[in-house]
Amino acid sequence: MSSIYADIIIDISHEKLDRTFQYIVPESLLEKVSIGTQVQIPFGNANRNITGYVIGLGSKARYEVGKIKAIQDVVPMSVSAESRMISLAGWIRKTYGSTMIQALKTVMPVKQKLREKEERYLVLQLEEDAAREKLAYYQQKHQTARARLLEGLLEKPRITAQEAAKLFRTTAEVVKSMQEQGVLKVESERVYRGLIQDQEKESVEAAVLTPEQNQVLEAICQEWEQQNRPCLIQGVTGSGKTLVYMELMERILKEGRQAILLIPEIALTYQNVQRFFQRFGDVVTVLNSRMSQAERFDQMERARKGEVQIVIGPRSALFTPFPNLGLILIDEEHETSYKSEGTPRYHARETAIERARLEGAHVVLGSATPSMEASYACRRGRYALFLLQNRYQDAVLPQVYAVDMREELKSGNRSILSRPLAEAIQKRLERGEQSMLFLNRRGYAGFITCRSCGYVVKCPHCDVSLTMHSDGRLNCHYCGYQTEALTTCPSCGSPYIGGFRAGTQQIEQVVKKQFPEAQVLRMDLDTARGKTGSSDILQSFARREADILIGTQMIVKGHDFPYVTLMGVLAADLSLLASDYHAAERTYQLLVQAVGRAGRSSLAGEAVIQTYHPEHYSIQAAIRQDYDAFYEEEISYRMLLGYPPAVNLMAIHGACQSEEILASAMEYLKRYLLRVKKEFKTQVIGPAGESVSKINDLYRYVLYVRQGESEDLCVLREKLERYIEINKGFDPVYIQFDYN
Ligand code: ADP
Ligand code: ZN
Ligand code: ZN
Repeated sequence: MSSIYADIIIDISHEKLDRTFQYIVPESLLEKVSIGTQVQIPFGNANRNITGYVIGLGSKARYEVGKIKAIQDVVPMSVSAESRMISLAGWIRKTYGSTMIQALKTVMPVKQKLREKEERYLVLQLEEDAAREKLAYYQQKHQTARARLLEGLLEKPRITAQEAAKLFRTTAEVVKSMQEQGVLKVESERVYRGLIQDQEKESVEAAVLTPEQNQVLEAICQEWEQQNRPCLIQGVTGSGKTLVYMELMERILKEGRQAILLIPEIALTYQNVQRFFQRFGDVVTVLNSRMSQAERFDQMERARKGEVQIVIGPRSALFTPFPNLGLILIDEEHETSYKSEGTPRYHARETAIERARLEGAHVVLGSATPSMEASYACRRGRYALFLLQNRYQDAVLPQVYAVDMREELKSGNRSILSRPLAEAIQKRLERGEQSMLFLNRRGYAGFITCRSCGYVVKCPHCDVSLTMHSDGRLNCHYCGYQTEALTTCPSCGSPYIGGFRAGTQQIEQVVKKQFPEAQVLRMDLDTARGKTGSSDILQSFARREADILIGTQMIVKGHDFPYVTLMGVLAADLSLLASDYHAAERTYQLLVQAVGRAGRSSLAGEAVIQTYHPEHYSIQAAIRQDYDAFYEEEISYRMLLGYPPAVNLMAIHGACQSEEILASAMEYLKRYLLRVKKEFKTQVIGPAGESVSKINDLYRYVLYVRQGESEDLCVLREKLERYIEINKGFDPVYIQFDYN
C-alpha cells in the first residue's frame, strides 16, 4: 500500500512559511489528519517533540523514503484559530487557484523578521505659560540641553524624536528627565496613527430602533437560529443599516464571540468608524492599508489574545484570527475592492461565507445597491434577503433629473456643464447651500463615443464597448474582434466622435470661470495624495469653507454633508461604456450612491445626471431609485449573453515577454479546452489581447471559459494546471486564473 505524506509547517507566524517538512501519516492517523490539523512530530537530530500544522497531503515522497519520519499524534481537539485559518487557505487554493504558500500568506499575518523601527514623537505636555516659566527656570539653571528642546517644543509641540535629536541635540537622558518632570510625553507612532485614539466610549444611549429596523434585526436572528444562510440587508442610504450592524454585533459580543466588519477602504473614514468607538469603546480596533506590516501584526495579535472583540477594516481584515468568531459583516457588499487583485484572486464575500461555515459563524451583507451576484443568490434561496425601505425619519430622497447632453450640443452648448446643471449650481450659491460635482471616471478606457448622438462603438459579437489601441484600431478584449479607426460617426455622420478626455482639473477651470464668486475644492488622486490629504479636503468642505466640491468616486462614498443639496453627475455614461459586462451594474450603483449624497438632512436635495443615454435602463432605474427594475433588466441581459451570475465565467490570463510564444501557448490551451469541452459542457471564447495589452514589456492574452456549474470549473482548472505543469512549452508564460 502506498503511503500518504504530509507537508508540515512548524512556525506559522514566520516569514519563511515556505519552509515545510515532510512526514509520513501513519495508517492509524489517516482518518484524523487533514489540511489544518495540528500534529505532534519528532523534529531535528534529537527528535524533539514539537507541534506543527499540516498544510498539504500527497502520495509522493520528496526525500528518501527511509529517512522520512512519521507523525506521532494528532493534537486532540486541534481546533485552534491557526488550524481553521489553514483550512481556509486550503479552500482558497482550491477555489481560486494559487499555491498553498500564497494562500497561507493571504490568511496569516506574517511576522517580519526585522521589525520596522517605530517612529517616536515628543509631545509638549504643558500649557504655554507654564512652559515659558519652565524654560526660564532651565535657562537660569544653565540646563541648556533642556532649554533648547523646550524652546523647540514651544515652536512645534509635537516633533519626532529623531528630529529632536538632530535639531536640538537631545539625548535620551534629557528626554527621560523632562518626561519625568511632566514637561513632555513620548508617544509611539502607532498610537498616533491608528484611526482613533482618544475616543472614549461615550455614554450614548443605544438608539431605539424603528419598527422596520427592529423587524429586520429579529428576522436575521431567526435566520441564524434556523438555516443560517448568508443574510443580505438591502437598505436605501440612510435607512439605518449601520445601526442594525451594531445591534447584531452587540448580540454576538454578549455570547462571548467576536465580530469582523469589512468596509471598503475608501469609506473607512473617521466619521464612519467613530460611531463604533462611541458605542463599543476600546474593544474596537481598526485596520487600514496605511499601517505597516508590524502594526497590522500587532492588531491581529491583540485580536487573537481576545484583547479586542470587533475589528473594522478593508478586505484583509477578514482574516483576523479571533478565537471565537461569531459574525462577519460586509458593508457595501457590491464594492469591487472586495475582490483581490493579486494572487490568489479571492473574493471577500465568498471567502467570508466559507470562513463562517468552518467556524460556525454568521455572515451579513449590506448594500443599497446589492451586487448582481448577491441578489441572484437571494432569488435562488441561497442567501436570505431583508429589506429596509425607508430612510430614517422619512428623510426624502432627492429629486433626480437627467439632462440629455445630445440636446445640449444641438442647441449650441458645448460646455461640460449643461444649462440645467449650471442653473442649479447658481441657485445653490444664492441660497448659501453646497453642491458636489461628480465626474464618473470609473472604467474609463479609450472607448469611442459620438457627442452628437451618443453612439458607442461596440463589438458586434459581445456587446461590450470596443477600446482604442495606440495604433488607432478598435479592439474587443473578450473575443479579439478588430476594426479600423473611425473619423465620423457611423450612426449620424457627425465628426464629433472620439474618446472622452475631460478630467477633474478641466472641470474645475470651467466651474471657476463660470462662477467666479464660488469657492471651489477639488478632490481626486492628485489632491488627495498623502496621509491626510483627502480627509483635509472633506473636512474643509464639511465646515462649509467651499461652495462646490468637484471629484471622482472618492467624493460619493459614505460622507454626510448636511448642507449639500445638489449633486451633479458629469458624464454618467463613462462607466456605462466600460468594456466590461459589469458596466451597467457599476453605473447604476454609482448613480444611486451619488444621488444619495444630496439632501441627507432636512434640506431637500436635487440631483442632475448628465448623460448621452437618458433612455438606458441603468440610468432610468437610478433616476427612480428602482433596484428591482434594474435587476430584472440586467439579469435577463446577462442570461441572454451568458455572463455571470447567470453563468460562470473563468478567465485564463497569460503573460509573456514574447508575443509569439504567448500566442502559441494560448492556442494550445484553447485546443486542449476544446478537446475537453464536451466533458465539461463549456464554451471557449478567445484568445484575445487584453485592454492593456503590453505592460512592462509583457504581452497579455486572455481566454474565457463559460459554463453552468462553477464546481466543474474548479475541476477543469485543476486539469489545466496539470496540463500546463507537464508541458515545458508553457514555462516562459505566466498563467493566472480568475473567476467571474
Ligand atoms: P445607512 O448605513 O443605511 O446609510 P445609517 O445607519 O448611517 O444608514 O443611518 C442614517 C442616519 O440616520 C444616521 O445618522 C443614524 O444615526 C440615523 N438613524 C437611523 N436609524 C436611527 C434610529 N433608529 N434612531 C436614531 N437615529 C437613527
Ligand atoms: Zn453620432
Ligand atoms: Zn467581441
